Amino acid sequence: MTISENLAQFNSELPKNVTLVAVTKTKPVSDLMEAYNAGHRVFGENKVQEMEEKWQEMPKDIQWHMIGHVQRNKVKYMAPFVSLIHAVDSLRLLKEINKEAKKNERSIACLLQIKIAEEESKFGMSRADARQLLDSDDFKKLKNVQIVGLMGMATFTDDEKQISEEFQNLKEIFDDFKKTNNQFTVLSMGMSGDYQIAIKNGSTMIRVGSAIFGDRNYG
Ligand SMILES: *Cc1c(COP(=O)(O)O)cnc(C)c1O
Repeated sequence: MTISENLAQFNSELPKNVTLVAVTKTKPVSDLMEAYNAGHRVFGENKVQEMEEKWQEMPKDIQWHMIGHVQRNKVKYMAPFVSLIHAVDSLRLLKEINKEAKKNERSIACLLQIKIAEEESKFGMSRADARQLLDSDDFKKLKNVQIVGLMGMATFTDDEKQISEEFQNLKEIFDDFKKTNNQFTVLSMGMSGDYQIAIKNGSTMIRVGSAIFGDRNYG
């Protein structure tokens, strides 16, 4: 199947309240243009520099999502144009995003990444640390960032029950935080291998790469 056929398939299958982020990391601009020409406008990258280069080359009516771990010294390169940063995991990073957003006279929407997988390698905050951040005066002083929801990645496993439990856990945290944060609207969970389980458990945003663009070749 071609990229545009895969996108058409997703668009016919997905519930209306679920946003599809087309994850284009490692893929050439020609692949992104095929998705663009099929009408797609929401793209996700996991490296700031690669996203910035693609932003330069692509039409300007695209929403660019940073889905990967962000180093503070890279924030300035995406601050002029990024539309959502998915994987914020500290107040220090949030302060940097706020500073660069302010320089660009804009506000940047962010998600807090919560660690839900059991693997050690996955980034993310604990529920308690996220709660503390949201309640802190330091955070409330930041006028150029908005936290609009949460993001999480399930364990890489064939055990669907485990994946489902991890997503349920994230959804429960999301619903709890939403009670006191009326800006909470986005729950980013689900990738090519587990998006159906994520949607069953309340995802509003899935990040899909290989199921649209084919396997990545890291060379
Ligand atoms: C690469 C990536 C994805 C997409 O992965 P696929 O399995 O190709 O769909 C989703 N989220 C994050 C954070 C990623 O880095």
